[in-house]
Amino acid sequence: MTIDEFTKIFDKEIDNMKISKSDQYLVDLLAQAKNSIYTIPVIYQGKTITKLNSDLVHQRNISDDNVEKLKRAHICLYRTYEQMSETDDIERLKILAKRCTKIEFIQQELWGYPRDATWHKWFDVPKCKCPKSDNQLRLGTKYYIVNQKCDIHAIGKE
Ligand SMILES: [Zn+2]
Repeated sequence: MTIDEFTKIFDKEIDNMKISKSDQYLVDLLAQAKNSIYTIPVIYQGKTITKLNSDLVHQRNISDDNVEKLKRAHICLYRTYEQMSETDDIERLKILAKRCTKIEFIQQELWGYPRDATWHKWFDVPKCKCPKSDNQLRLGTKYYIVNQKCDIHAIGKE
């Protein structure tokens, strides 16, 4: 929903229902519309694969051009995940996992953050056997946990 579309609905609701703007229903409607206004869907092959936080886009003053690049980066990551899902070749999985890392660095740059691998969700790639929630909790720290049975990340397999 665009801001214009929302404004139209909002005005119409007020006209039709003769209710004040403080009415709870409108407060809820506003919250609902705000949710759709303040997320930017990333669409690939007709499907929303993820959403960008547009509050953050405004806060960090991200240009329209960089928003488009961020969308492309997400699609690239999504397609790389698809390719990883389709193979069991360990060498290929490792190469594709490295591509994911590169994409995450690009995303950090586009968001205006420093390049920092400690924030990467390397454990989210398909076929990774490393613990997800334990690593999620350690994001932004130098600590991480590798499953020695993970073909992609286990030491000695690098
Ligand atoms: Zn792993």
